[in-house]
Amino acid sequence: MSRSHEPYDVLVAGGGAAGVLAALNLLRQPGAPLRVALVERGTPGEGIAYGTDRPEHVLNVIAKRMSAFDDVPDDLVRFLAADDAGAADTLGQRFVARRDYARYLATRLDDAMHATPGALTHVRGDVVDLAHEGTSYTVTLADGTLLHARAVVLALGNTLRKLPVDTGALARGVAIEAWDAPAIAAIGRDADICIVGSGLTMVDVLATLDATGHAGRVHVLSRHAHLPLPHAAHGSQSGDAHDLADLSLTRLVRVVRVEARRRMVAGEPWQWTMDRLRPHVQALWRTLDAADKRRFLRHVVRQWDIHRHRIAPASAAIVDAARASGRLVVHAGRLTAIDPRDGGADLRYRPRGRSDEYVLHVDHVVNAMGLETAAQRIDNPLVRALLASGLATPGPLGLGVATNASGALRDRDGHAEASLLAIGSLRIGELWESLAIPELRTQAADVARHVRALLDGMSTPAA
Ligand SMILES: Cc1cc2nc3c(=O)[nH]c(=O)nc-3n(C[C@H](O)[C@H](O)[C@H](O)COP(=O)(O)OP(=O)(O)OC[C@H]3O[C@@H](n4cnc5c(N)ncnc54)[C@H](O)[C@@H]3O)c2cc1C
Repeated sequence: MSRSHEPYDVLVAGGGAAGVLAALNLLRQPGAPLRVALVERGTPGEGIAYGTDRPEHVLNVIAKRMSAFDDVPDDLVRFLAADDAGAADTLGQRFVARRDYARYLATRLDDAMHATPGALTHVRGDVVDLAHEGTSYTVTLADGTLLHARAVVLALGNTLRKLPVDTGALARGVAIEAWDAPAIAAIGRDADICIVGSGLTMVDVLATLDATGHAGRVHVLSRHAHLPLPHAAHGSQSGDAHDLADLSLTRLVRVVRVEARRRMVAGEPWQWTMDRLRPHVQALWRTLDAADKRRFLRHVVRQWDIHRHRIAPASAAIVDAARASGRLVVHAGRLTAIDPRDGGADLRYRPRGRSDEYVLHVDHVVNAMGLETAAQRIDNPLVRALLASGLATPGPLGLGVATNASGALRDRDGHAEASLLAIGSLRIGELWESLAIPELRTQAADVARHVRALLDGMSTPAA
């Protein structure tokens, strides 16, 4: 099928949280409303993170930090208070269900569509390719539809990292992807399972098993067996990071450790040190040279992840209870093979620091390896097409794609194309912190202002 159109002003590829935030900001731009196409196969605002119906899947950030807009910081809390006015005082501190966050984004999108009728079109589909011709883009969807736009924003989000071994020989239903919540919820009550990966996605799986009354053994296998740590029970602390600017990675790690220990000695939560760092991570990442970035990925990232990506106290309690009862057993090791046996699977792994192999027999294997960030392995047809055509090139250390400070994609010759922009996880190599809502809402607002100015400039006749 092919459909030709008056070009949209902007096409946003991907309608998860990032795409919706971009659309909301584009619709809020001053001047004549921009004509925006939001291409998303599912329900806008859901994406991987918020497209879950499970009430036990909660935000890992308190509500008062999750507004869609930097300039209206209490917007989510106000939205939630409409349903729960009695709890208005405490809502800001709650870790609300992620499905409620999707409802919030969808409501704000509806509000914006009513305020600017006809400006936004939700096109159901997947973008598989795009070409730049003159001043516009021709965008190809998987069903052959062609759309045209003067600017494109890529908000393609996250894909799950694949298991490092083949699972093709397993019986149907034995291997499960962690983000397939209905399949997790359908696991038999007494089934033994192994979750590969020990991060936030593992915690989601465990929470669902807990909620469905699962009573079997749960093994968790990961290289280092570090589990996510909880948020502080109370409060947080912000602050500047002047003392951290221009330090080498080694010095930076030492200063952060010393500060966290000092807080603990003083009876303060170590988490406050991470809170202080949080708004400055992008700037600190940019000051590291390539060798230090590589060192960070090799030696620091696992500790970083568990201290930075923390979980709600209620989620931490589920993990602790499962460990204390012996139902949850954590193994540090490297997965070497998964073979079918007795309708289930034998997982072979090499325990950390040993050369022999252990075998775990389970009924199900759950892939909770987390997000794929290496450009060449991102399982997305559009990313593959852009890398193949040279319109995009891998970002620093091969992570995400290369962009300039405005988020414009750099082509394989290093040229940044101002009308082809990325937000979110595609910018991870450039920014490191580029996945969570605080970064996404800032990027979305910046990109919308940039596009407005760019398109206004394009339509101004040359003097
Ligand atoms: C399980 C989980 C929980 C999280 N919890 C939090 C939290 O509590 N707080 C927080 O701040 N952050 C959280 N995050 C971080 C999270 O990455 C972001 O908040 C948010 O989900 C990112 O949205 P996104 O739109 O960039 O990505 P995604 O959620 O991955 O959405 C991308 C969308 O793009 C679409 N798409 C992809 N490719 C194409 C294509 N070629 N054409 C058209 N459409 C396409 C997909 O269908 C998808 O809907 C969480 C992440 C995960 C994975």
